Amino acid sequence: MTTTRFSEVYFNELKLLLSLPRKIVITTHYRPDGDAMGSALGLYNYLIGKKHTVQVITPSDYPDFLQWLPGNDSVWNYEGRQAASDGALAEAEVIFCLDFNQLSRIEKMAEAVKKSSAAMVLIDHHLDPETSFQFIFSYTKACSTCELVYQFIEAMGDKQLITKVVAECIYTGIMTDTQSFKLPTVTPVVHEIVAELLKAGAENDKIYENVYESSTEDRLRLLGHCLKDKLTVLQEFRTAYVALSQAEMDTYHFQPGDTEGVVNYALSVKGTKMAAFFSERDGLIKISFRSKADFSVRDFAFTHFEGGGHRNASGGKSNLSLEATVSKFLDLLPKYQKDLLK
Ligand code: 5GP
Ligand code: MN
Repeated sequence: MTTTRFSEVYFNELKLLLSLPRKIVITTHYRPDGDAMGSALGLYNYLIGKKHTVQVITPSDYPDFLQWLPGNDSVWNYEGRQAASDGALAEAEVIFCLDFNQLSRIEKMAEAVKKSSAAMVLIDHHLDPETSFQFIFSYTKACSTCELVYQFIEAMGDKQLITKVVAECIYTGIMTDTQSFKLPTVTPVVHEIVAELLKAGAENDKIYENVYESSTEDRLRLLGHCLKDKLTVLQEFRTAYVALSQAEMDTYHFQPGDTEGVVNYALSVKGTKMAAFFSERDGLIKISFRSKADFSVRDFAFTHFEGGGHRNASGGKSNLSLEATVSKFLDLLPKYQKDLLK
């Protein structure tokens, strides 16, 4: 059905390595999203089916709405299990890095990963991968890392091992990274893959409900606060943003994932070309950027906010205060006005 996107030389070498049961660690980026957890657990469920010993380790916690994913109970959060995780990383023969392409994206875990003598495998769809990985499967046009994990399994000749649980994980990442199949990254190939996932037993309605219709009341009230009181629209720059302080997050008993999607509301204001969402958590300002058409928020985040990602969806951070970070952002807009008004 689909054509493989993996270079043959690489692929055969890795396939040979995986032809014996191995000790494997799978990791993904800090504050994992649906594609991060979907790809990690999709690959996990596949690899345990192949009799490997596999440990998924995340660099941080992740939202409740992803904790129903099959295999979730076996995941370790590095922040709470550092010693055991360092041990697993030291013993690993293969480490899969999914949905990120710079080791800085796994924060404190990077040190132990760098020390490990394991073969490092990258499967990812972000721009400009670091070259320190031994096996790099990077395809920036893929809609999600989950799309690539599907193709990886298929290229391994193991399509029959895409069981219901594997399919559910992969479906989740494709659904979340494409905003439910509406982004231009969704190709006929993606729909073909989704058809195969449904045939394998993935229940699209159940997955949608688990991910998008399982908000707490606090989360919806926080969204209400963002939209009613915090949304700022700057028509002259075709930009909209929301900035939330730690105190505001505390008022609504913020849980990881609660503000996911807020930035998309800002981008949905008619005529908006760029949207930003700033949030203060544990003394660090995290920023989500989204854009339409050819305005690259990846370049914007990379140049000004130590970040990166995709052209139309990126993120970054700032060590300044929330107010100073927003001021810095506002001061940059005139410089980009021409591109924003294009
Ligand atoms: P989000 O805004 O949903 O957190 O992230 C949007 C996209 O940008 C995702 O693909 C994510 O992996 C990437 N991203 C988010 N934060 C950062 C960051 O600090 N650095 C880099 N390089 N990418 C990021
Ligand atoms: Mn992704």
